[in-house]
Amino acid sequence: MSELTHCITLEGGDVTFSCPPDDTILRSALRAGIAFPYECNVGACGNCKFQLVDGELQQRWAEAPAWSDKDRERGRFLGCQSVPGSACTIKVRPSALYAPVHRPRRVAATLTQSRPITHDIHEFHFSLDEPLPFEPGQYALLTLPGVTGVRAYSMSNVAEAPALTLQFQVRRVPGGKGTAALFEGLQPGMRIEIDGPYGRAYLRRDAQRDIVCIAGGSGLAPMISIARGFAFDPNLQDTKLHFLYGARTSKDICGRDMLEVLPGFGERIQFHAVVSTPEPGDADATASHTGFVHELADTLLGDSLRDMEIYFAGPPAMGEAIQRMLLARKISFDRVHFDQFY
Ligand SMILES: Cc1cc2nc3c(=O)[nH]c(=O)nc-3n(C[C@H](O)[C@H](O)[C@H](O)COP(=O)(O)OP(=O)(O)OC[C@H]3O[C@@H](n4cnc5c(N)ncnc54)[C@H](O)[C@@H]3O)c2cc1C
Repeated sequence: MSELTHCITLEGGDVTFSCPPDDTILRSALRAGIAFPYECNVGACGNCKFQLVDGELQQRWAEAPAWSDKDRERGRFLGCQSVPGSACTIKVRPSALYAPVHRPRRVAATLTQSRPITHDIHEFHFSLDEPLPFEPGQYALLTLPGVTGVRAYSMSNVAEAPALTLQFQVRRVPGGKGTAALFEGLQPGMRIEIDGPYGRAYLRRDAQRDIVCIAGGSGLAPMISIARGFAFDPNLQDTKLHFLYGARTSKDICGRDMLEVLPGFGERIQFHAVVSTPEPGDADATASHTGFVHELADTLLGDSLRDMEIYFAGPPAMGEAIQRMLLARKISFDRVHFDQFY
């Protein structure tokens, strides 16, 4: 163990874990199997905040949106950005909800290929030096050349033994540093580090209920992974999956071709696309609906949403609109699964 690796103790118990200098408190805790609360892992949601009781810490990204002046004054830190400078005692309340299904690990990965899915979404395939098992719907953190901090991307494939490939579907963000590195900097054969899996919005294989997957824009990948996991899961053969994709115009619609090849498409698996700002010619294109994807879920599935497992992924505004719709329908959030994108 390096002398820069520090022991972190959770206040009020005998739980301890080690955090090396190139890791963060949140990720080291999860690697040790500790159910440390979190969601985005990239400094934006604030779910991994903890109180420093004793010791010294540095915040990797001092401008992280979820770290406020009040947090600084009160000695609260983000687990996803904190690197210890000494042994520390911290106050945080682990919750079984966050217990990692697979303990996250860092592995070396090689880009093997990329292909366009739409005019602004590309799929990237990586082969891994070591297996990285994950559940459909989970995400990983990519360290990209020339980019400060890591970027979170959801896997679109399913982990097939020995889990040596990861696929991501990424929407190009104008001016974005991570997406510029992926779309322009990275060439097949180049190697990066991938850390995962993370996330709690994974396919619940023990729930014998119909599923709705609601995706918007860049939220395609985790919903495709869940649909792929669903299609081949023997426990879920008597249930249905409704896949709803929200796009701006028909040229942004995607996902149907990935579902059409799955067993049960058109029967157990249904695809619906909706466009929010139709353009001339969209009427006869692939979208059968106009409006927002939360409106489509509401009108298409109505009260049956109460009996379903609900998964969604996409831009924050879409996530908020879906949650408002579900609250208005008094739907129990124990069956609603999402890791908000930032
Ligand atoms: C759980 C999760 C899953 C996601 N899955 C997908 C997906 O499957 N497909 C997809 O297209 N997008 C996904 N995203 C969004 C993706 O992570 C990026 O935010 C998006 O691609 C824009 O990245 P960028 O680097 O191009 O933009 P930028 O504006 O350069 O960066 C934005 C992101 O980087 C972080 N960041 C910025 N500066 C720093 C810094 N100095 N240090 C540390 N972090 C920094 C921000 O918190 C933010 O997450 C996901 C996000 C989350 C949280």
